[in-house]
Amino acid sequence: MKLLIASNNAHKHQELREIFAALGPFSAAIELITPRQAGVDIDPDESADTYAGNALLKARGFARALADAAPAEALWVIADDSGLEVDALHGAPGLFSARYHKAAPGGDGCAALLGELTGVPNASRGARFQCAIVLIDPDGSEHTFFGTCEGRIGFEKRGVGGFGFDPVFMLPSDTRSLAEYAAAEKHRISHRGVAARKAIAFLSGKQ
Ligand code: IMP
Repeated sequence: MKLLIASNNAHKHQELREIFAALGPFSAAIELITPRQAGVDIDPDESADTYAGNALLKARGFARALADAAPAEALWVIADDSGLEVDALHGAPGLFSARYHKAAPGGDGCAALLGELTGVPNASRGARFQCAIVLIDPDGSEHTFFGTCEGRIGFEKRGVGGFGFDPVFMLPSDTRSLAEYAAAEKHRISHRGVAARKAIAFLSGKQ
């Protein structure tokens, strides 16, 4: 089974490959294809007001471009969208998480977030990552899967792994930040890992 990744982001390709590899024998048999490999070159907009809506826009955009570029290719399409919701910020940055980093001084969204939470006590630092994954079947049907990873925002940046808000995101029962997790360990519990596991279980029934 072949899946086209609906993203031009090399980090996203790598992360999805790692997640699929970490999630067991069936997922290892799935071949993940990049847009470049499929001859697809588009950059769909992400203007929806939910994670699932954005993932759907991306998946549909790439599915249409694939149909134009390689009409004979029966590829599935996989898209995801995710973000961080911080309770003390009423759910921000949420859908605007990627833009939050870009707008932060020096591109350091973690430092900006710690600054916004100055004086907020531990008990009020709850946060969660949300992820929606959309699969489009070669027959055109669309399927959405969700994952959440609950935690809190720490008081300092820790660790060098992961990306985005990982250095300030802590699981409830751990003193490490997500940036201190090994990649495979993170993927087992992350919002993207949880959603991907559901997507993979669905795909395994389609073989
Ligand atoms: P994307 O939709 O997967 O590109 O994620 C959007 C933004 O949400 C990223 O730029 C990060 O700021 C944040 N984010 C999503 N997932 C993660 C994660 O696993 N760790 C850290 N930050 C994340």
